[in-house]
Amino acid sequence: MPPVIPSRLKVGVDVPWVTSWSQEKQGGVGPCPTVDGRVAALQTWKPGVGKPLYSRNHLRRQRDSVRAMLCPMCGEPTPEGDRWSQTGQFHAAGVLRARGFGHALPVDLDDDRVLLDAGSIAPLHMRCALTSLQRCPHLGAMPDHELKGFPPAWVVAPLYVEARQPITGRAVAAVTSLQLLGVTGDRDPGWRARLSQD
Ligand SMILES: [Zn+2]
Repeated sequence: MPPVIPSRLKVGVDVPWVTSWSQEKQGGVGPCPTVDGRVAALQTWKPGVGKPLYSRNHLRRQRDSVRAMLCPMCGEPTPEGDRWSQTGQFHAAGVLRARGFGHALPVDLDDDRVLLDAGSIAPLHMRCALTSLQRCPHLGAMPDHELKGFPPAWVVAPLYVEARQPITGRAVAAVTSLQLLGVTGDRDPGWRARLSQD
């Protein structure tokens, strides 16, 4: 086997903290503190070793980032007032329910309440958002460069895969990623009309 040489790229500076590296193998499921000890998909932890896999988030770091509001770029906590979403999209709760996301939303959340659907990407510090916009070709090519302020309230929704319990072989639901939805103070009374638009 060839020797594993630490990368010259710095985690949190050249490469986002949340990004997976080629030496971080995915595999197996087990209890994970990121989901209060429930079963989650696991991955070894060797950031900075091998090559960065920019299109893939590290499973554990992704869950950590959403659960603890850690900036996906630098890995440090984002304080309220300095949380910015680059790729999030505003949708009324009713639209998300119509798309099958209902299980993730609190039942008492009105259909016309506007949510900032950040997907699997926790909000960034302003300075980190600006840096990543300069460095990441994918983000730079996006038509919408507007940073959206992340609301002070949010909902976390786990996504699951079916996995096999290693000892018993039983099928278990394992959390892969945590999805993040900011709850804004806005309402969209015309949300039903938007169901057919996108
Ligand atoms: Zn940051």
